[in-house]
Order: sequence, then C-alpha cells, then structure tokens
Amino acid sequence: MPIFKSQQPPIDVPWHLPVWTWLFESEYSPLRNYKPEEIQGYTNAVTKEHLSYADLKGHTTHLSTALVRKYGLQPGQTVALFSPNTVWYPCAMFGTLRAGGVVSGASPAYNVEEMTYALKTAEAKFLFTVPGSMQVAAAAARDAGIPQERVFLLEGQMPGFTTMSELLELGKSYGSDGQVEPFRLPPGKKNKDVCGFLSFSSGTTGLPKAVMIAHSNVIAQCLQIQQITPDTLRRILAVLPLFHITGLVHQLHLPVILNANVYMLPSFSMDSMLATVQEYKLEEMLLVPPILIRMVRDEGTLRKYDLSTLKRFSSGAAPLSAEILELLKRRFPGTGFKQGYGMTESCSCITAHPPSKYDYKYAVRVGTVVASTEVKIVEPETGNECGLNEPGEIWARGPQIVMGYLNNRKATEETFDQDGFLHTGDIGSVDEEGLITITDRLKEMIKVKGIGVAPAELEDLLLGHPDVEDVAVLGIPDDYSGERPKAYVVLIQSKRSDPEGVGKKLIEYVQDKKVRHKWILEVEVVDEIPKSPSGKILRRVLRDMAKQGKKGH
Ligand code: AMP
Repeated sequence: MPIFKSQQPPIDVPWHLPVWTWLFESEYSPLRNYKPEEIQGYTNAVTKEHLSYADLKGHTTHLSTALVRKYGLQPGQTVALFSPNTVWYPCAMFGTLRAGGVVSGASPAYNVEEMTYALKTAEAKFLFTVPGSMQVAAAAARDAGIPQERVFLLEGQMPGFTTMSELLELGKSYGSDGQVEPFRLPPGKKNKDVCGFLSFSSGTTGLPKAVMIAHSNVIAQCLQIQQITPDTLRRILAVLPLFHITGLVHQLHLPVILNANVYMLPSFSMDSMLATVQEYKLEEMLLVPPILIRMVRDEGTLRKYDLSTLKRFSSGAAPLSAEILELLKRRFPGTGFKQGYGMTESCSCITAHPPSKYDYKYAVRVGTVVASTEVKIVEPETGNECGLNEPGEIWARGPQIVMGYLNNRKATEETFDQDGFLHTGDIGSVDEEGLITITDRLKEMIKVKGIGVAPAELEDLLLGHPDVEDVAVLGIPDDYSGERPKAYVVLIQSKRSDPEGVGKKLIEYVQDKKVRHKWILEVEVVDEIPKSPSGKILRRVLRDMAKQGKKGH
C-alpha cells in the first residue's frame, strides 16, 4: 500500500556540519552570502534593541569561550533557557551550541515545581533567565542542584548573578588567540548522531518528556521550509514563544538562513503585535489559532492599525476551523494563507503549504508533505496502510524526525519504529492533490493555545489530593484556547455528598500548582473511570461519554 512521498525536490542535508558552523561559517551562512551592511538580525520590536547576525557571531564566540574556560561547560551538557522572547535568547542558544552544549527551552510561565521537573528531566547544568523569572529560576535551580554561579542573566542585572554582558566581556578578555574553537562533530559521527536541543513534549502518552533534537534535524527542517518560502520574505514576526519547536525553528534558526529580520515581542498583546506589523510593514504573520481567532474578532483593536501590507497568514501547532478561515478571508481580502503541521518530535513540520497553494481554498488542509519526507496513513486497529482519502494514524519519516526521548527507551520505541517512522498519534488522510487533512487526535495530548498539555501530569497531581480516589483528564473544546483540560473524578466516600464544593476546590488546587494553560476548566464527578483490564484509562470511552453528555457510572 502507498507511501506518500514529497512532491518537492529533495534537500541536500550537510551531514558534517553542526548548527552553529552551518549558520555562521558555512557556505549557507548569510555572513558569507551578503555584504556586511545587508546582514539582518533580531530586533526587540518594543525597545528597538537590535542584534545583527554578524554581532551574534562575535558574541557567541565570546560567550562559548567564557562558558567553557571559566565554567567548564562540556560538549553534551545541557543549558536551560527560561525566559520570554528577547534578542539575548538566541545569543545564549547559539553560544551554547558553539561550545557543543545542548539547549533546553522552558516556558517562562512555569512555577518552581514545573521548572525543577524540566531542569531535572533535561539534566541541565546551567541556566539562563531574566530578572522577572529569577525567583522561580533560582529556586528551581537549587532544587535541581544547579549552583547559583551557573545561573546567568540574559539581560538586566541582579546582585549575586552573572550577567550576559559580564560573560561576553569575560570571553573577550581571553583575546583573539584564546577563543575556544567551534564545536566539531566527534570522529565518525554525523550531525544526526549529536543532540543539540531538548524540547518538551508529552508525545502520545504519559508525562512530558525531553525530546532529543539532533543538529541535523534543525538544519533539515530549515532547508525544507526555505525551499517553500518566498525569497522576498525579509521580515519575520516573532510572537510565538521561543521555547516551543515552532519558535525555535521558524523564529530563531530559519531567519538566519533567510537573512531575514526578526521582530520579537517580549510579551504578547494585540496592540503591540499590530503596532509591530504597522511599523515594520510586515507582509506575513506566523500565528497560532487562538491569535488568529482574535484577528477576526477583535474589530476595535484591528481598526486602530494600518495592516494593508499583510500578504498572508501562517498558522500551525493546533487545528484551525473552516469558520475562522472564512472570517479571516473576509476580514483581510486579497491575503493568502498557509499552515504547517507537525510536532516537536518532527522538529516542526511534516507538511506545509508550498507557495502555489497559499490560498484559502487549501487552507483547512495542512499542506503537502515537505521535501525528503514520506508519510504513511495507518489504520490504528489493524495496522493496515490506508489509501487516498482514507483516514488513519499519520506516520512520517524524514531527516527532521528526531532522535527520541532522553532516558526513556520505552516511549522512544513506542513512538519511533524500526523503519524510522514517527507515529504521530494524529488521525488524518491524504487526498488526490497530496494535501493532508487532520481529522482527529488519537493521543492523549491536550492542546491549549497551541501548547501541549499532558493529561497524565494533571492526573498525577489530582490523584495526590486527599479527596480524590480516581481521575482522568481530557481535553474539551474551547472557543478561545482551542481546548482546555477537564477532570473526571471519583471522590472518596466521605466527600461524595458535596460534588460541587469539592469540584471548586480541585479547580483552585490545580490553579495553585500549575501554570495557567494547564488549569482545569471543569470538574465532573463520576462513579467510575472507565479502564481496560490492565488499568489503562479508556479515554475514547470517556470522550464518547463527554460528547453524549453522559455521566460516568
Ligand atoms: P507540539 O509537539 O506541541 O508541536 O504538538 C504537536 C501536535 O499539535 C500534533 O501532533 C497535532 O496534534 C497538533 N498540531 C500541530 N500542528 C497542527 C495543525 N496544523 N493542525 C492540527 N493540529 C496540529
């Protein structure tokens, strides 16, 4: 039965190059291909702070030197980044990569417990943060065994912590002869064998895991997307968080290879985003569905800005409804639309729209298979491969498919098969035009505003509550966020007389312990959680029950 192959010409991955060398010193580098005055960079759209890719090459040389010479950073050690979007984020990222370190981004909204889990799971040895996140960062670093002298500030100052500018000065003080050499691949290794990034995803089941992303995965994905990006794209909006795979690829790496300027917003607001579009005459906006929903509903704010330069919208990370697409097309006549579909485990896109399909008539489908990538659609129950227009689980193979999960062989083997296919846990089909439609999600993951939430994490938390005997968490549709978690709980005997009171208490309990996007919208008290004989939650049964509005029994 068919394997759906990409219709794009194959990409030629330079297997011998680590990311830093590829971006800053190789034949692909804008620093080789453009005159110095043409080199672009990252700009803070609010403060106007700007860091060109040429400056960045110097800074990351000095930073890696400081990290290696003074702090003993070794290749393969993890450096965590815990910060909102700032132009200094890529400096820490590329400085780490230049030294052969591994970069692990975490949501700046995490609390101490969540951040400690992230640091421990990624085995982080160093941490970069900003003053506003220091309280959480310092406590989490302590709990994860990272000494204070290895907690650095990306920007700003605070007593007791080394700042980025001090690190850069220190690196520079070793002189031009004293700079460490850029990381080279160990003998006999290719860039696909060396992890450069650890990003978090719950995958198809269980708790969030550290996804090992090879240097080659990011390079391949950039080449795949570059191939279907118009040469004219010179200005890129960066409102999506940099710790998520979409930000990491499309807002940090791809722009360097395109020599495009990146306009970062440290915090999101419709006003600051639209003011940025107006001021820099942006032609494209890379967004996630909840922001696109505001682009059609927030009439009052939209009217304040001149958005006439916009040529197209780009969306990814979560499903977008045909209704919103229709409203967007009407609200911005003459614009085009494209989507990307993929996951952290595919280093962003498996499919995307090529320029010939930047049109609303293709928009609800998620594009065609990107270069050098193959897709199979597999019937989940039988394992049979499906033909055209037959829905099944999407499996994908290509140079962007990641290495696996750190220290988690079981999950790795369940998700990445022997033939190199990633089992996405998404249900979809391929049509005659090679376009993929996503129809459902087989896996547990809940997507809140484009960010993955692991039901297992919330179930673990709620099981620890004294009033809860058993629990299952599901995603339920939400107009604004796409989905929100809902808990089905079995209460202990003595609490069963007050389901509403306890439900409210449980909602507050989660609010107290978890970052906002994991908050539970609703608690439903049930008599029993449907489970398989082996004790696995039967989420499908629960989902069907939820759809029919039935109570558990
Ligand atoms: P993450 O690892 O956070 O990027 O989450 C990946 C998951 O998000 C995928 O497995 C899908 O379930 C969902 N997803 C990503 N992109 C899309 C899209 N364009 N349309 C629908 N769902 C998407």
